[in-house]
Parts: sequence; C-alpha cells; structure tokens
Amino acid sequence: MKTQITIACLILLSLIPFSRQASAGEPNLPAKWEELTAPNFVKAVSQSGKVCIIPLGIIEKHGPHMPLGTDLIDVRAQVLNAVKEEYAVVFPEYYMGQINEARHQPGVLAYSPDLVWKMLQETCNEISRNGFEKIIFVNGHGGNNDLVKYFCMSQLSEKRNYAIYLFQPKTDPNEHKKVEELMKKLPPSTGEHAGAQETSYMMAVRPDLVKLDKASTQSGDDLNRLVNLPNTYTGIWWYAKFPNHYAGDAKFATAELGRAMLEEDTKQLVRMIREVKADKKVPELQKQFYEASQHPIDTKQ
Ligand SMILES: [Zn+2]
Repeated sequence: MKTQITIACLILLSLIPFSRQASAGEPNLPAKWEELTAPNFVKAVSQSGKVCIIPLGIIEKHGPHMPLGTDLIDVRAQVLNAVKEEYAVVFPEYYMGQINEARHQPGVLAYSPDLVWKMLQETCNEISRNGFEKIIFVNGHGGNNDLVKYFCMSQLSEKRNYAIYLFQPKTDPNEHKKVEELMKKLPPSTGEHAGAQETSYMMAVRPDLVKLDKASTQSGDDLNRLVNLPNTYTGIWWYAKFPNHYAGDAKFATAELGRAMLEEDTKQLVRMIREVKADKKVPELQKQFYEASQHPIDTKQ
C-alpha cells in the first residue's frame, strides 16, 4: 500500500510541470473544430466569445482548370486567415449547399433541397448544443446566396438559442485600391465563375491546384440563350448562360490579384468577427421578438 502511495505521489509530482504549463494559458488553441481536443474545445468556446464560423463551400465544376472544391478551399483560406487575428472556432469542411444547376457536370455533389436545408439547420443546432451562441456564415459559393438569406430569415420561425450572422462586407475604398488597380488590367467579362478573378484567388491560396494551361480548352463565353425573356427569372438561367460552368477567361489570372483580394477579404472578415463578438443587439432583439410572437394580440397597436 505504502509503495502504491509513493508511486502515486511520484506520478502526481511528475505531472506538476505539465499542468503548470497547461494552466499558463493556451496561446495556440487550434481554430479548426476538428483539431481541438475535448478539454480544449471547452476553452475554445469561451476564448471565441461563443462564436463559431461556418465557411460555406460547394463541390462544383470550375471550368476545365480548377478543382471541384474551389469555393470550399478559397472560403476556408479566408476564414482561417481571419481567425489568426481574431479568434473564433471554424466548423469543419462544409459543402452541402445549393448546386442543382451543375448536376450535368462530373464530380458535382448536389444533395436534395430538403437535405441541404436540414443539414444546415441541424448543423446550427449542433453548434449551439455545443455551447456557441453566435454563428457566422461566410459563404464562398454564389449559388448559395439566396439560400443563406432565406435560411437566416427562417430562423425567426421558432425560438432559437443562437443568432446567425451572415458576412456581407462593405467595401472600404482605401482597402480596395490595390484590387481595383489590378482589376482594371483585366479585359471586360473575363472575371466571373472560374474566370480571371476566381482563378487569381486560387493561385494565391493553392497554386498547385490550378492548371492554367488548360484554361482555354473550354469556352467561358456567355451563351445568353434566354434573350427572349428579359423580364423573367427562371431556375435554368445559369445553364442558359454558362453550361460549361465556366464564365469568363482564366488566362488573365495573376497570383498578385489573388493575394490582394484575399488580403482585402481577410481584413473585412476580421472586422466583422470583432463586431459580432461585441454585438448585444441581435440576441436582445431576438429574445424580445420570440417572446412577443407567442402572443401577438398583446403587441401594442
Ligand atoms: Zn466558385
């Protein structure tokens, strides 16, 4: 017994320097959810101010020269850059978005509309169940734009314990100067989906994944096949214009433009994370709203 106690004491003594180290602060908590240990996760929730970011990507064709995961890879690069300056926890790779218009292209992952919605709702619920109170959506895929806004609005349909904040940056003319200058060098209509701008971005983030020599093997021209309907929106609009899932011309891409865009986006996001952390209005108004919506006839008329 005595030997056991001595051994136990020795073990405890040997642990002291480590526990001291651990309690001396956690200067380098990983930002990626999946890289945190369970004990560090608890610290991360607190250190982030209960803010978790979902970088929303997609798996979709990006011309003949860019990876299917372009939007996911780019948006995660931006978010992971920003949280180095303003800590928040970053949700794992999320690519279950709206991409029905690309179902005719190889490698596309287009889950059914119901599942896309449910996945996003349950993802937010799970983030909340794990202690976060504020969820930031950073959307890297144009085809998600309407989905994420409607999703945000739909959160008012029932009481939630969290608030969702969609990143919608305002351009600061000073910060934008460099990007503006470099954009002027691009010929018109070369910069859309998988075009010169998006390819530049990828050249800054993962140049090894860009096959610029393949950029001209398919056309990124706008086929404009619905000129007969100038006053109409229809779900087939994108296919009518860009069936190759290539819009613009990537051969004008430069890593310099990509780096400038990434830098500008990162600065805007750092600012937004700080604003969201400091925000008390949204949770306060939501609380008031959920309460009042239980008995609308008592709302002062
Ligand atoms: Zn894209």
